[in-house]
Amino acid sequence: MNNERVKGVLYAAKKPTEAQEDKLIEFLVSRYGEGTELEWVEDASVKEGFRLEVGNNVYDWTNEGRLSQFKDMIVNAIGKKTSDNIIPLIRENIKDWTPNTAPTEYGVVTSIGDGIATVSGLRSATYGEILLFSEGIRGMVLDLREDEIGCILFDDTDEISEGSRVKRTGRSAGVPVGNDFLGRVINPLGLPIDGKGDIETEDYRAIESPAPGIIERQPVNRPMETGILCIDSMFPIGRGQRELIIGDRQTGKTAIALDTIVNQKGKDVICIYVAIGQKASLISQMVTNLKKHGAMEYTVIVNASASDSAPIQYIAPYSGCSLAEFFMHQGRDVLIVYDDLSKHAIAYRSLSLLLDRSPGREAYPGDVFYLHSRLLERAAHLSDELGGGSITALPIVETQAGDVAAYIPTNIISITDGQIFLESELFFEGQRPAVNVGLSVSRVGGDAQTKAMKKSSGSLRLDLAQYREMEVFTQFSSDLDEATQKQLTYGHGLMYILRQAQYKPYSQHQQVILLTVALNKYFMDVPVKNIQGEIARLLEHFEIAHSDICSKIDSTGLISDDDKQIIMKYALEFKGQN
Ligand code: ATP
Ligand code: MG
Repeated sequence: MNNERVKGVLYAAKKPTEAQEDKLIEFLVSRYGEGTELEWVEDASVKEGFRLEVGNNVYDWTNEGRLSQFKDMIVNAIGKKTSDNIIPLIRENIKDWTPNTAPTEYGVVTSIGDGIATVSGLRSATYGEILLFSEGIRGMVLDLREDEIGCILFDDTDEISEGSRVKRTGRSAGVPVGNDFLGRVINPLGLPIDGKGDIETEDYRAIESPAPGIIERQPVNRPMETGILCIDSMFPIGRGQRELIIGDRQTGKTAIALDTIVNQKGKDVICIYVAIGQKASLISQMVTNLKKHGAMEYTVIVNASASDSAPIQYIAPYSGCSLAEFFMHQGRDVLIVYDDLSKHAIAYRSLSLLLDRSPGREAYPGDVFYLHSRLLERAAHLSDELGGGSITALPIVETQAGDVAAYIPTNIISITDGQIFLESELFFEGQRPAVNVGLSVSRVGGDAQTKAMKKSSGSLRLDLAQYREMEVFTQFSSDLDEATQKQLTYGHGLMYILRQAQYKPYSQHQQVILLTVALNKYFMDVPVKNIQGEIARLLEHFEIAHSDICSKIDSTGLISDDDKQIIMKYALEFKGQN
């Protein structure tokens, strides 16, 4: 407080008695120091009780005030939701409720627009705190300045105008979480948007929470199989890893994430797909596809669509991550996809510009690195003491004309543990998934790969690198010697083997068998256009005639040299029959 004398203004219908006045002054002095004065203002609108205002602090002991205090508490607990089950909730809460004697700090909206409000008067509001506007509209503090604060709004803002009152809640933004969320489509505030009724919540988690520390973690040592041959063999992903999927628009980025989700069926992994700034029609199509492949029952979709406001898009990945953490702390393995973080950065950029923050490179604010680093740090493999759960993150980033050196792509590449780089050129050639083998990398997943996969994928990466090099050099020469010709045919065939249709994940034994025979040049004499058909027939044959070796690979994750020879022998026998 400054040197000015503090004055409490009492609004009441009747002048307080001397005894009442003494008590109030005593109260004021205890809170605001010696010399605090009291002034009575006649206010006929105050029917019962009184309202005491000291600067921005309001002690509302009118009947309406107490009622609204209670209403706020309820709204605060369940959001702006007035469904039928609110009455029992009130009954339950009112039992042990006494009105608040702490002052409520009020502020005033000084400007509003585009989902942003500036508020003056809330001197002690903190970063990330939820503010309550009139009509139960909620906002979150995102910018603290000397004399006012910037706040993003989550609900429809029509009901707020300049001069509206704003109240602190003392709580940071959070979302409801629970096991009941599985199989549902929700918005970033945790409310269902699939029309299937209420979701039972078990807890409430802050959307921002610190990432686990070093002691709380253990190394990534278990595989998160994508079922995509090209990725599992050369860029394996481990549980707890962050692997970026990066590429131009329409190169199959989402397809890789969805295939990975579909491949988790029966593997006891929970999947969360966070859609940021996508068309609602695409999401509903995706839900249909996931349902068709039986993947929706272990999946939650958090959707902040293109038509949602920037604040909603901004919090979407953090809410998704909170839900993921809820499952991780139960010891479960979670896969979370952020599709995509370029649109997330754009939403944050528009918020920052509206909040008058100074723009930096590409007009992004200075803290755009922190935006994603604090999100992706929350992916972890927890230690056994903490239950051993994990969050594996697959962030997606869209590039412009393959430019991985742009601001947001370089930031996220440096945060993640590797990237899968998809290329338009390959995609249009029909090489799908369009993974660029030279530019993709997985920095920690190798430790998590099963021995069988590691052993059978052996020289694949090297062979492909040689093939690419040779392909460039021999482009214009017509008379190639036989050895070079063979190398080219072999490499060309390998590229065809890596082609894989959408929603057709390979199991571990299928990948091992396929790699073993392919690297032993089984497909050398098969014309490339027949390779996919040949693969399907061969794998089916193994499934039927040699299921013992298939189940052995799946259950042990091992393969011996003898096994490899046996596989090759079976394969050649099969070839001979045809
Ligand atoms: P956007 O930039 O629009 O988000 P994206 O990079 O996520 O696009 P997808 O939507 O995954 O790309 O895929 C683009 C198209 O390519 C889709 O129609 C999809 O069905 C098809 N596609 C993706 N992967 C494959 C594949 N392996 N085989 C065949 N078609 C595929
Ligand atoms: Mg996509």
